[in-house]
Amino acid sequence: MNRREFLKVAGVTTAATGAALAVNPKKVMASVELGKYQDDYPYEVTKDFKGFSSKNVMFMRMFWDNNRYKDEYLNSAYDYHTPIETGINFYAGFKGYLPSTAHDPNTVGFRSVDKALGNAADSVNIDFGGMSKFTCTNSIFETYPINPQTGKPMKDMPVLTKGLFTWDNSSVDKMIKQGKSPYKFEDAKDAAKYVKKAAKFLGADLVGIAPYNERTKRWTYKEWTTPNVKEFNMPDGSKTFSPVNPIKLQNGEFETYGVTTRKSDFMREAGFEPKSIIVMAFKQDYDSIKTAPTAVSTGATGMAYSQMAETSYKLAKFLKEMGYKAAQAGNDTALSVPLAVEAGFGEGSRMGMLVTEQFGPSVRLAKVYTNLEIHPDKPKTFGVKEFCDVCMKCADACPGKSISKEPITVVKEGMEFDTGIAGKSNISGVEKWFVNGERCLSFWNYNGGGCTTCVAVCPYNKIDEWHHDLSKLMTLSPFKPLLRSMDELFGYGGPVEPEVRLESKYLKDAVNDFWDKL
Ligand code: SF4
Ligand code: SF4
Repeated sequence: MNRREFLKVAGVTTAATGAALAVNPKKVMASVELGKYQDDYPYEVTKDFKGFSSKNVMFMRMFWDNNRYKDEYLNSAYDYHTPIETGINFYAGFKGYLPSTAHDPNTVGFRSVDKALGNAADSVNIDFGGMSKFTCTNSIFETYPINPQTGKPMKDMPVLTKGLFTWDNSSVDKMIKQGKSPYKFEDAKDAAKYVKKAAKFLGADLVGIAPYNERTKRWTYKEWTTPNVKEFNMPDGSKTFSPVNPIKLQNGEFETYGVTTRKSDFMREAGFEPKSIIVMAFKQDYDSIKTAPTAVSTGATGMAYSQMAETSYKLAKFLKEMGYKAAQAGNDTALSVPLAVEAGFGEGSRMGMLVTEQFGPSVRLAKVYTNLEIHPDKPKTFGVKEFCDVCMKCADACPGKSISKEPITVVKEGMEFDTGIAGKSNISGVEKWFVNGERCLSFWNYNGGGCTTCVAVCPYNKIDEWHHDLSKLMTLSPFKPLLRSMDELFGYGGPVEPEVRLESKYLKDAVNDFWDKL
């Protein structure tokens, strides 16, 4: 749709701002300050907030939590009723060990070719991400040839891969021993300039700095968790360390070995106390996300995960080369969304994802902890909270019935919402919208891969052009309730009703368009 068609359909020719935007959107938007910098974290955190253990992340519960869900909907809707069953079956389906029962393998969007894209896109993360001892949830299954419990490599492995998420700072220790001083920046602001440029140059789409202080320390997982593994001799003669019995898995049986949990401690695991956290966002491909919840949309997610692993490693290397220590992390180590809020490039949202000004919710996050002092950014709000109050598009579109339509609140375990009871995987004591992670992962399992429908339909998910700028402006105006309707009218995000979406021509066309467009 061009600007003329937009104005005709929207009927906003009387709106001076809209018209001006249509003539020269970049110039007008440059003069509009949408965001407000905040001195404090912009959501309530209760005084008794005790932090969150990574043991309770849904992807960790699949190794230890064999309790039946306390959710009638879940127990009636799906065949798997515990986090172990759901998580392991999801993994087995995703890797192609077990066939997906939800979709005919000839269905456009769920064919082998569609699934291969997601696995290929994620492969740098999965095959080379590795695991930082006691921390990582990025590559929980592909830990060989290093035993994550001991950090020791398998004896007969010809190649030793450290992994892109390694916290090995021995090169800096060596420099210190040799009496070399770290590179001296003029001050913390000067350091911020160079670090931010390096992060962007090395592959980040957004970068911000959070200080490492009492306010941000609380977002570090209070415990770091690793799945326990056993060594297996595989039928083909190879060996592997695996947290799931890989032989039984091929028959659809689940055997896991629990987890090892230790209090988080950067000094013990990485050899330094951090001073700053560099937070980075990686945008996801718009055309691929548009196809959610097909397997093609996992391609966008996988690409971002691989980029997270690669860029974080390179940025850590940049710091180490100058004599500063670094510990890079993907989803592990600390809660990424509050850290990105602290670093000033996004707000929380109803769907639980970060919404950024530039790319909406279609980003993945990584962070690099370092002992270099870098001038921090401040949280910045730009109307997401107010808009999520009235929009609710993600809640209507969620095929897993996970996203609540109730108002934002301080969530505590055991509280009841329209989409279920807050369980272990919900962070207690922080103001947020309730999202039921157990239902979400159960849908992923049923779907035979990921989902991402919430991101695809969100009115903030737009390619960065003038439509996006106008949308941002509308979220702050009295017209904000109209934005969702306009979004649907223009066909953004496709059908909202889950059953209609999965069977829709929109989705099939989106997948075919994705493959057709070079
Ligand atoms: S990923 Fe899918 S199932 Fe999960 S919350 Fe988003 S829309 Fe719902
Ligand atoms: S779809 Fe609407 S309610 Fe959901 S996160 Fe996006 S703006 Fe908020």
